[in-house]
Amino acid sequence: MTASPSSPARTQVSPTIGVLALQGDVREHVVALTAEGAAAVTVRRAAELAAVDGLVLPGGESTTMEKLLRAFDLFEPLRRRIAEGLPVYGSCAGMILLADRVEGATADQATLGGIDMTVRRNAFGRQVDSFEQDLLAPALGAGPDDPPLRAVFIRAPWVERAGEGVEVLARTRAPGDEGDGRIVAVRYGRLLATAFHPEIGGETRVHRLFVTMVRDATAVPRTHDRSS
Ligand code: GLN
Repeated sequence: MTASPSSPARTQVSPTIGVLALQGDVREHVVALTAEGAAAVTVRRAAELAAVDGLVLPGGESTTMEKLLRAFDLFEPLRRRIAEGLPVYGSCAGMILLADRVEGATADQATLGGIDMTVRRNAFGRQVDSFEQDLLAPALGAGPDDPPLRAVFIRAPWVERAGEGVEVLARTRAPGDEGDGRIVAVRYGRLLATAFHPEIGGETRVHRLFVTMVRDATAVPRTHDRSS
């Protein structure tokens, strides 16, 4: 799929961005990426992974996604590509997969890692399984004068501790809530993660930032091995 020729001023490059298609809102992510000017493709095999400039990890269930990644022989190749600098955006379970440390993990749960943070699985769950909130997030194009970012949380994690160098892009804000002020969107180099699902309801500003990140990463001239 490619961007329509009339896409506003996003004509110079259409980076190829994959959506991991093992579980979750695959179609919605493809639609959001396409709307933001990327050439979106689904990824289920190592050869498909090798062909993308960036990857989206949709929400789902992080332990199941780990098992599926291993079953499809994608776990190690993806871990390697992340280490080599592949831009990746993880939503919800995808955020958990990108975390270096997980609270509330199952005994044998492993993550791909990459972001120096500790996330707490099902963090909001004790109070409520799913909820929506309008977020103020200037770094995601939702500043005080913009429409707020509509965020849908479904058995979502939050970021318990963000390491130095992790940029906090959004926090929840619901005075009095147990989840008040929790970190729910971060960026760490070429990795982006949100605890919420922006793809539900047509919010595309998170994808817009990610497409920009992928474009910037592909534009960087490399002095050595382009194949990484
Ligand atoms: N609670 C799920 C997990 O632990 C994530 C939920 C989601 O992705 N919507 O993986």
